[in-house]
Amino acid sequence: MTLDALSDAAPTPAPGAPPPTTTDVAATRGRVFSGVQPSGLPHLGNYLGAFRNYIAMQEGYDAIYCIVDYHALTSTHDGEVIRRNAREMALGLLALGLDPERSILFRQSDRPEHLELSWLFSSVVPVSWVERTPSFKEKRRTQPDDVNHALLSYPVLQAADIAIYHAGYVPVGSDQAAHVELAREIVRAWNTRYGDYFVEPKAVFTDSPMIRGTDGVTKMSKSLGNTIDLFAPEAELRKQVTSMVTDTQRILRTDPGRPEVCNVCQLHRYFGEDYESIWEGERTARTGCVDTKRLLADRILSRFAEARARLEELAARPGLVEEILRAGAERLAPQASETVRVCHERMGLGPR
Ligand code: ADP
Repeated sequence: MTLDALSDAAPTPAPGAPPPTTTDVAATRGRVFSGVQPSGLPHLGNYLGAFRNYIAMQEGYDAIYCIVDYHALTSTHDGEVIRRNAREMALGLLALGLDPERSILFRQSDRPEHLELSWLFSSVVPVSWVERTPSFKEKRRTQPDDVNHALLSYPVLQAADIAIYHAGYVPVGSDQAAHVELAREIVRAWNTRYGDYFVEPKAVFTDSPMIRGTDGVTKMSKSLGNTIDLFAPEAELRKQVTSMVTDTQRILRTDPGRPEVCNVCQLHRYFGEDYESIWEGERTARTGCVDTKRLLADRILSRFAEARARLEELAARPGLVEEILRAGAERLAPQASETVRVCHERMGLGPR
């Protein structure tokens, strides 16, 4: 479902049981949760695939966004790297327009109740459910020497991240669709065993749920080294755009291009109303790939000029990010502990 399709639903409560909130957050508005890996400064795929919706959903929803550093432990084992990348991701989100006055931004490890709920959920999850997740299969292939247990339980923690705040909507890229679907199944399994309590979350996509990387084929991703980095120095960003693979059948400058398959042309969709005339230029060979790439780089730089300047300002304020993350986690404490309290009660564990 895209955000446009959702707009009618905005003023109504999230589906399922009403969230038993103990906070200042109005329970009548749909609640949104999304987590992002501490992977350093954001790339264009993050923005077009998910962060655009993060920012849009600050209006009309109770939005909660999380830097998921517990999740990062599945693949990154250098504490300094996790710490630095968490700070950079937070800075990037703030620079792009995430407003801690209108939404909550926090770091997962500052709310350890997520881990408690994850364990409680894991008791309703058959191992076969997690073994079949595409991301687990992928990681087993890409890090064969480090198939740790946390990789397997990753989607259970993700379900807990969302459910602990009774979020109904999860803005993500399409690579996360299977995880959100699994979160729905986990919540349903828990509700079936212990009685209705958790909301079944729904994924919310943008109109570009999967952005291809500079190779023109695979998903844009830091781990694949095919990103366009929104906050890279100008020369580097231009170099990344210039290195993009276009239509591989267009060999000569005079050959007609095929905008349908060219990643550069497709990205132009998001940077101006005139993309069809740009496509026409390619089709008729009026313009060459280099022209189209140069224009795309110009437009990316111009679209993100303000965010890039804001990043510099925010980065120059020591302690700011830490303060925002800590305050966000504090605001969530009552909801997180209330959820765990109810689970303890229903599951026969010690009173909270
Ligand atoms: P990454 O995928 O770069 O490792 P995350 O998984 O933390 O980083 O991504 C944060 C958000 O950005 C997620 O909702 C993810 O679905 C989205 N996202 C990441 N890469 C892309 C992409 N290439 N296209 C669309 N969305 C993406």
